[in-house]
Order: sequence, then structure tokens, then C-alpha cells
Amino acid sequence: MREAGRIVAEVLELLKKKARVGLTTGELDAMAESAIREKGALPAFKGYRGFPASICASVNCEVVHGIPGGRVLKSGDLLSVDVGVFWQDFAGDAAVTICIGECSEDAVRLVKKTEESLEAAINVIEPGVRVSDISRAIESVARKANYGLVETYTGHGIGAKMHEPPQVPNVAPKHIWTKSPGLPEGATIAIEPMLTEGTSDVEVLEDGWTVVTADRKPAAHIEHTVAVGEHGAVLLTVL
Ligand code: MG
Repeated sequence: MREAGRIVAEVLELLKKKARVGLTTGELDAMAESAIREKGALPAFKGYRGFPASICASVNCEVVHGIPGGRVLKSGDLLSVDVGVFWQDFAGDAAVTICIGECSEDAVRLVKKTEESLEAAINVIEPGVRVSDISRAIESVARKANYGLVETYTGHGIGAKMHEPPQVPNVAPKHIWTKSPGLPEGATIAIEPMLTEGTSDVEVLEDGWTVVTADRKPAAHIEHTVAVGEHGAVLLTVL
């Protein structure tokens, strides 16, 4: 899983370098797919329940699962890119949100707070940590910053499959007595906060995939695959 994660991180680094005004999301997808295959891995999203591309490219009000294509990136766009691969029999999954060209202060702050919410979640990880503690860490950063937090889509366990139990919600259970699974040392999960400038409500567009905010305000999505280590989180989707 370290190797799968490293490949994901390398591809995201490449996309961060390449993404710029004038490029299409389809061109980024093609670059990502050849980079993934050159490293001896497979693009995990391609063909997943019929998804037609290797990466998800979600722009501005698109939260997740945007289909790459002819859309031309312009200055001020917020581009969330999600990359998943299989290397040998293991999965890696991570996402970044990139400011294209000159972004507004509001957009930069949204990305920063989304990063902080993921960091806060990573920081509570230790053997036995409850999934609800991870959710609560994400939620506290997002709420303090006065952002919406998407509940409909969640993080997840990950290993030999891209999506395994347990779900890792971005919002903690409403009742403290709700039983939330504890994660033993060695558990591997993908944590993926999705923060929005307005409502937490989302809709799926007619393409059957693209998830957008109901009020069409911008969203950011940042994700890492992490392992529960003896002394805390071990980030797997890093170089
Ligand atoms: Mg994921």
C-alpha cells in the first residue's frame, strides 16, 4: 500500500505542476493515465461502475466525481483532482484541490481550511481511535471556519479494494452514544473532507456522476490514504 500510495502522490504532484490556464481536464486525465501505467499501476477509477476516466476532475461548484473532458481551465478556477490506483493487489487513493491562475482570497482560504481539517483528522489517529473522533476532528475545523461540510459522501476503508468498511464520515454522529468502530493498529483508511462555501447539500448532474453543491458555490476536496500506526497516523499517499 505504501507503493500504491507513492504512485498516487507522484501522479498528483505531476498534475499540480501541469494544471494551468488553457489546459483541459481531459488533457490532465490523459497525462495521469499514462503516468499511472508507466509506473506499472492501473487507474482504479477507470471503468469503476462505468466511470469513463482515470481521474476525477471537479471544478468550482463540483465537489467530487467530475468527469474529465473538454472543459478548459481558466484563471480563478478551483480544481479538485482525485487519483486512485491499484499497484499489484493494493489500492491507493488521494485528492488535492488546486488553485488555477489567480484565485480569490476566499478560494485560497477554503482550500487552506480543507487541508487543516484533514490534518486535524490525521492528528487524532492512534491505535483504537474511533471513526467518530476522526469525523469530529474534521467537523470542528470546518464549523469554526463557517464552511459547509458534505455528509452524503464519505471517506472509507481501503486495502485490496478501493472501498472497504468502515465508512469514514466527515461529520460526527449526532448522538454521542452512537456506536462508532474503533480502528486497530494496521487499519488503512482514506480520509476525504469536502468543504463548501455555502450549503452542505449536493446534487448529482445528469451525467450520473458529477456531484455539485446545491447552491453552486465552490467546494474543495482533499484526501489521503493513511494507516493507523503504533505511534499515530502513517501517511501512505506521500512521496
Ligand atoms: Mg476516496
